[in-house]
Amino acid sequence: MTNLYALTGRELAALIREQRTLPDPALKGPIFQEARRLRGEWYGDKVYMRGLIEFTSFCSQDCFYCGLRRGNRSAVRYRLETDQILHCCRTGYALGFRTFVLQGGEDAFFDTHTLCALIDAVKSRWPDCALTLSVGERPKADYNAFHNAGADRFLLRHESADPLHFARLHPASQTLESRKRCLYELREIGYQVGAGFMVGSPFQTAEHLASDLVFLRELSPQMVGIGPFIPHKYTPFAGCPAGSLDLTLLMLALTRLLLPAVLLPSTTALGSIHLEGRELGLRAGANVVMPNLSPPEVRESYSLYNGKFSMGAEAAEGIALLCDRIRRAGYTADFSRGDWAGCAQPPPSPVE
Ligand code: SAH
Ligand code: SF4
Repeated sequence: MTNLYALTGRELAALIREQRTLPDPALKGPIFQEARRLRGEWYGDKVYMRGLIEFTSFCSQDCFYCGLRRGNRSAVRYRLETDQILHCCRTGYALGFRTFVLQGGEDAFFDTHTLCALIDAVKSRWPDCALTLSVGERPKADYNAFHNAGADRFLLRHESADPLHFARLHPASQTLESRKRCLYELREIGYQVGAGFMVGSPFQTAEHLASDLVFLRELSPQMVGIGPFIPHKYTPFAGCPAGSLDLTLLMLALTRLLLPAVLLPSTTALGSIHLEGRELGLRAGANVVMPNLSPPEVRESYSLYNGKFSMGAEAAEGIALLCDRIRRAGYTADFSRGDWAGCAQPPPSPVE
């Protein structure tokens, strides 16, 4: 097996180009085998469960790919009250969840004080739970305050590590430089950090995906979020095709090879483009799922892309169904906090 650590960006791009011409629906090839071996070495057959709470659909950013972008006047905007959020946590806790993920658009209503009070409200009631934030770019002082208030982890996908590609996905006011700075600040503060990107976003090439891997190797985050791009009808990318299942699975496996102890979700977007997407993601090296704990009546309004699954096995109410599907894929749903295994033990010897 090639040591991905030793490959240059150009060689990684060649590998991606070569592999994408060899569809491997049964995931039997050496890359997938190695990805499964490594996830087994670090996490056994566990799949960590995270309860996702989509607490605001307001967003002041204008990412071209996202249905929540400021420019989408048709988006339905909502903001959950503290009591509603605590109710989601209470329900989630009773179901067994020990990680809550608070995700939302970049919403100025949740200023430093308000968001710290919310974090404190959750952590003081459920101190045994990990709290993950996914609220976009903020000043370092805010990240510090959220961490001091009790937030443990932070998800902020870099979206594309190629500056020109990043610029084709975002307005000029949003830059890769600023995104990277946020990620390094989060890491320095002591969060478990998650970066990541969409597969098949408009204009994306194998070279861009290779840059994403090179950036991940450099940042070495504890979590990586990877899912297919899926178009939303009220965005500039409405007519663009969705990212492919095969390429998403390949990028998941390559990420596992590069960062063996990474916490790697099999994303809702992957489950939304293919009926078996979640299970295939797990077989490609993913080890986390994030069912939806948001109140059912707001789920449709949190529309990042069209056709997003939020019911059945994607939702907390369908937890028995999801656990059963995980079991049938050969894994075990695990409701513990599920911290990054790299904290607990030294890494195994490098991949040969
Ligand atoms: N506002 C926060 C969190 C919400 S968006 C943030 O941007 O970090 C969470 C993720 O959804 C984004 O990082 C993006 O990669 C993904 N996303 C947005 N629009 C999407 C689309 N059309 N298809 C697939 N994923 C999308
Ligand atoms: Fe806002 Fe996040 Fe969507 Fe960008 S991806 S428009 S920051 S919700």
